[in-house]
Amino acid sequence: MSYEENVRKVTPYTPGEQPTGKVIKLNTNESPYPPAPEVYKALEGLNIEELRKYPDPVCMELVSALASYYGLDEDEVFVGVGSDDVLSMCFLTFFNGKDPILFPDITYSFYDVWAEVYDIPYKTIPLKEDFSIDPSDYRNEKNGGIVIANPNAPTGVIEDLTVIEDIISHNPDVCVIIDEAYVDFGGVTALPLLKKYENVIVVRTMSKSRSLAGMRIGYAFGNKKAIKYLNDVKFSVNSYTMNMPSLKAGAAAIRDDAYFRETVSKIIATREWTKEQLKDLGFTFRDSATNFIFASHEGVLLGESREELARRIFETLKSRNIFVRYFEKPRIDGYLRISIGTDEEMRIFIETLKEIIMR
Ligand code: PMP
Repeated sequence: MSYEENVRKVTPYTPGEQPTGKVIKLNTNESPYPPAPEVYKALEGLNIEELRKYPDPVCMELVSALASYYGLDEDEVFVGVGSDDVLSMCFLTFFNGKDPILFPDITYSFYDVWAEVYDIPYKTIPLKEDFSIDPSDYRNEKNGGIVIANPNAPTGVIEDLTVIEDIISHNPDVCVIIDEAYVDFGGVTALPLLKKYENVIVVRTMSKSRSLAGMRIGYAFGNKKAIKYLNDVKFSVNSYTMNMPSLKAGAAAIRDDAYFRETVSKIIATREWTKEQLKDLGFTFRDSATNFIFASHEGVLLGESREELARRIFETLKSRNIFVRYFEKPRIDGYLRISIGTDEEMRIFIETLKEIIMR
């Protein structure tokens, strides 16, 4: 008998690499642009002396900024340390039944990790060949909850609100979490469905469209009762999840709407340019509504499979200090997930890609 028999053993989520030094980093869907000027002002104006005190446990400055921006009441908003923290709290709060929770086979690879660590039974539902959801798969499947990323990651595929509503309306007895990490880049939000259904939670992040991945700020919208349940669990784990600088930076990012719109539209324009370039090089991909493109190439060399080419491109790019994401997983190991950088970064990326493919 050893202490190890009592250890909670888990296979953790593997985050994308965070290389140091001068690299072109297109592997973790961060924004290539700096945070908003208002965020600089807020952080430069921080009263360091205040750090001796605990931060506001109810995070009111941030909750209140989000509530007024999105036209909700303060008690319909929950915040946390990145949407990873928010999603993890949602799993712990809402997925407490005996039946398996459901999510697509190809989606954010943290969902199965939280299910494992919290001992939540789960079942994955295969996406169709084109990576889209068949909502009928979610109509007659007894379950303890559902989580859907829309737009999805790593595929970039967006589902119509009719598909999302179909899933929510056919599962009134469980909580349906819609992870909208990438919605600002062209997705459709499930936010209007909050008024119609009590079983919906919408989760968002400031890591991508608001250039604040390093601050760790995520948030969720839901009805008052659901948000109260979430807060009850949060206050049973850690009362002070968000630190004072994050609360100030998050509220400032929301205030600077003009900067947000400007950077998001720049990223969308660069994405559309990149799509054209990738198409010209012979890549195929489902249209992306996100700040990344999930692309595959059938290869030009005799005897080189899609998977071999994807791996070769990934490795060669890395050796030239360009980082993209490659997932060694069934169904997607012939793909590369390419985050959208600045125009200049994408130009260099495309030039390098040309050389690699034409080798
Ligand atoms: N959801 C999805 C679909 C994501 O891709 C990510 C980014 N890895 C997250 C949630 C978490 O983002 P964060 O914790 O930075 O808010």
